[in-house]
Amino acid sequence: MAVIGVLALQGDVREHVRALEESGATAKPVRRLAEIESVDGLVIPGGESTTLWKLATAFDLLDPLRKIIADGMPAFGSCAGLIMLADRLRDGVAGQQTFGGIDMTARRNAFGRQVDSFERDVQVDGAPFHAVFIRAPWVERAGAEVTVLGEDNGRIIAVRQGPLLATAFHPELTPDRRIHELFVKMVKGTS
Ligand code: GLN
Repeated sequence: MAVIGVLALQGDVREHVRALEESGATAKPVRRLAEIESVDGLVIPGGESTTLWKLATAFDLLDPLRKIIADGMPAFGSCAGLIMLADRLRDGVAGQQTFGGIDMTARRNAFGRQVDSFERDVQVDGAPFHAVFIRAPWVERAGAEVTVLGEDNGRIIAVRQGPLLATAFHPELTPDRRIHELFVKMVKGTS
């Protein structure tokens, strides 16, 4: 069975572990480099990308994670996790860095401060998906290798590039498991 680690520096780790277990994977929180290297895939949870960046830097994980992702470990990021998987960032704080991997520009807090959080049906893979957005980013520009999986009013909110998957919303917070099931298949090499 695929073993998927959920990066446990900050964010909604437990919700992702549960969603992955419900999607046919073995899941566990991972924090140390050796733990991260031992799993078949990695989830970067929603939370706060500035905190993820600072903690990854403090724990000497920023460069190792960049390399692990660049070397092809399947990874899925939701919200702050999408930001961490973006090669380029707009509206980050001074000096803010990401792990990268997906050839896209993520715009942080893109939906505006007035609309901190909201839920609505979006289109993912051609079907409706009830999505929860919390101070969410969107994808401002996606490179040629990026497949757009989801859009909301013309804004890109779900993407895939090879073994990397990212959503601006939080599928771990709603019962619909299609996104986590897709990621489990990607980790198993069947999608
Ligand atoms: N706005 C947050 C950030 O910049 C993301 C919010 C979230 O993950 N719910 O990281």
